[in-house]
Amino acid sequence: MNRSLVAIAALCATLTAAPAAVAQDAAVILRTSVALDGRGASLTNVDVLVEHGRITKVAKAITLSGARVIDLRGRTVLPGLIDVHTHPTWYFNRQGRYHTTGDGDTPLQAMLAASANAYATLSAGFTTIQSLGATEDKDLRDWINTQGVPGPRIITSLQAITNGDPDRLRQLVQQRKQQGADVVKIFASASIRDGGKQSMTDEQLAAVCGEAKAQGLRSVVHAHSAESVRAAVNAGCSQVEHGVFVTQAELDLMASKGTWFDPQCSLVFRNYLDNRAKYDGIGNYNAEGFASMERALPLAAEGIRKAVATKNLKMVYGTDAVAGAHGRNAEDILCRVQTAGQKPMDAIVSATSLNAASLGWGATLGALAAGYEADIIAVDGNPLTDITAVRRVSFVMKGGRVVKDDGHPGSK
Ligand SMILES: [Zn+2]
Repeated sequence: MNRSLVAIAALCATLTAAPAAVAQDAAVILRTSVALDGRGASLTNVDVLVEHGRITKVAKAITLSGARVIDLRGRTVLPGLIDVHTHPTWYFNRQGRYHTTGDGDTPLQAMLAASANAYATLSAGFTTIQSLGATEDKDLRDWINTQGVPGPRIITSLQAITNGDPDRLRQLVQQRKQQGADVVKIFASASIRDGGKQSMTDEQLAAVCGEAKAQGLRSVVHAHSAESVRAAVNAGCSQVEHGVFVTQAELDLMASKGTWFDPQCSLVFRNYLDNRAKYDGIGNYNAEGFASMERALPLAAEGIRKAVATKNLKMVYGTDAVAGAHGRNAEDILCRVQTAGQKPMDAIVSATSLNAASLGWGATLGALAAGYEADIIAVDGNPLTDITAVRRVSFVMKGGRVVKDDGHPGSK
């Protein structure tokens, strides 16, 4: 081996070994000037102590001998963001088209693309995502958890459930659980590109959501039309996705039943329209489909405006990130604040502690507090006064390990 190769090998060894050695074993103190705790409070000049992957203390002027200090003053620190509706296996192939089975890409290539999406998502400050969902998510989730693949924590439904008689539907729920699903995804209405009308009967919905509950799984339902949203809520399903055509009556119904509601503000529609050439001609990505998405944009923002004003409605944050949108998961936070009138702090709470609660992880994720997983990010600027700051994620820690630290303008 010549000398430059030796040097490169040594550098590689340092790069791969350092994060594990530093972040996992040594205690870390994150020094902050502004920190949002994810539950609605803004903290000034606190330190966050991280030990063994968890936050063990949030207090002023923490000292601990041997602890590594990371100075995040001048930025805004917050819990890692959570997106409860993504599709990390969706990507554009090397021909610049939306990847579909049969386009020539091998399963291994598709998994590499999914892995790149996971990395892009994590780098954008999203330390947890819910994928709704694909069979391949299982390996992606497990390799991230145990094999060192960089990516967010993944909760997945695996393949969605779309049809069948009630007995068959109950079987499918049991099968998903055996396959390793964390949640059940159900289609109760057609796609927005096909009008969004109810596609599953009340009886079918009761069978799926009832069985999910019996199996200890949450049930997350794709529903656009008002009647499909009502049917999902009345069937006892856990969460409604999309709901572009909801009226105040369905928002009130979800609030009274405690159903989680996950509407999208703009990213998913804009992403399809901006990448039209990459999707055009595949399935329902046709002239009519794109026109429907164009029409959905103002409706979606208006729906969120109404949802914000609906008392006791638990509105979580999910973007439905598909090919082209991974790593831009924060865009709907901007839309919610700038277009739909949500308060910046409420939008952040939605994407952190409220989302964690919807996943059943409210006691361990989504807050800057002792006992919580050390999923912590920093952004340049303060999102309370300039919401675009959520685009400028310059520091990401997941499970106590620093996975990104770009510094920020003005820092050394
Ligand atoms: Zn989706």
